[in-house]
Amino acid sequence: MHADILVSSLMTTSVTSTIANAYLADVIQSMIDNHYSCMIVVDNDKPIGIITERDIVRLMGLFISDKPQGPMRVGDVMSVPVATVSVDTTLFEALVISSAQKIRHLPVVSSTGQMVGLVTQSDLAKAHFRIYEKQREIIEHSVTRRTQELLQANDQLRSLSLVDSLTSLGNRRAMEVDLEHSHSQALRYNRSYSVALFDVDYFKLYNDCYGHKAGDTALRSISEHLLKSIRTCDRLYRYGGEEILLIMPETTLYGALILADRILLSFAELNIPHEKSPLGGITLSCGVASQIEINGYDTWEDLVDLADRGLYVSKNNGRNRATIIPPEDAVDNTVPRMHGINP
Ligand code: GH3
Ligand code: MG
Ligand code: MG
Repeated sequence: MHADILVSSLMTTSVTSTIANAYLADVIQSMIDNHYSCMIVVDNDKPIGIITERDIVRLMGLFISDKPQGPMRVGDVMSVPVATVSVDTTLFEALVISSAQKIRHLPVVSSTGQMVGLVTQSDLAKAHFRIYEKQREIIEHSVTRRTQELLQANDQLRSLSLVDSLTSLGNRRAMEVDLEHSHSQALRYNRSYSVALFDVDYFKLYNDCYGHKAGDTALRSISEHLLKSIRTCDRLYRYGGEEILLIMPETTLYGALILADRILLSFAELNIPHEKSPLGGITLSCGVASQIEINGYDTWEDLVDLADRGLYVSKNNGRNRATIIPPEDAVDNTVPRMHGINP
């Protein structure tokens, strides 16, 4: 079964690594000689950075205008931090992580953080495609067999999907994988990231007034608008019904609030009519929360819960707005919680 395929069965174990103190020229030469597309930088066997062909091309660009003074070391130019996965990460999880974060090389680490291998996005995509094709064949051959088998194969096919079919945003399952990975990396490397939870205002009334099909079309327009408004490193997922979650890596609480406010404002300016809403058009409300570098929350669920509370406050304060709950208020249980999030 798909879920049972672990990255450890797909990874290359003969990975050549380097250290931050090594001379860059030697490392580039070794990459050329051995046709490596990247080199992982380790400290005590633990990955701390990565040098890819892309980094070298970027560097060449800089050299054209500015010749470096003296020999450069790997540590001067490597990309940090490097996203890692563990040996028990599944193919599906690794695929979500590499496609969400646009990572082509994922070092695989042991439970103690030592590098034990490397998987590339193309390894993952090929393995995924093989399984996808197999499931499709099963479906085709099952037509003459019992319906139960067909339903099972169809279920498995659906479970391979990373994308929500209505909105084309990432689906709930992919969201959970992305959050789990983002959160564990934030904890491990003391990095920040933020989440924003969007909810369509008075959407039940919209469906009641214009019909469910129009509601679906509106959800698609909202998703398209959100996709257009975010930065390339940000990720959008359909959290549930008419709720959408945005993950913003390396973003502070106030940075995230500014982005959320901008999205809400530009969306309201689209003026999609909603005659049953007191606001006259379709609007969104939002709650924003951040994982700070030090003393952050233990789990991503805590963070999403906090964004949910911000959303509740936005709803209570008139909707069409974004609210942050700063960390010091997080323990204040008098701040109400949002209930009834759609599954
Ligand atoms: P609020 O401003 O408090 O968020 O009010 P609301 O009406 O948006 O909230 P409520 O939770 O009462 O209703 C959510 C509605 O969203 C009800 C549900 O039918 C609709 N909805 C959820 N998913 C979909 C979908 O995929 N398509 C359509 N058309 N409607 C959906
Ligand atoms: Mg709503
Ligand atoms: Mg809702």
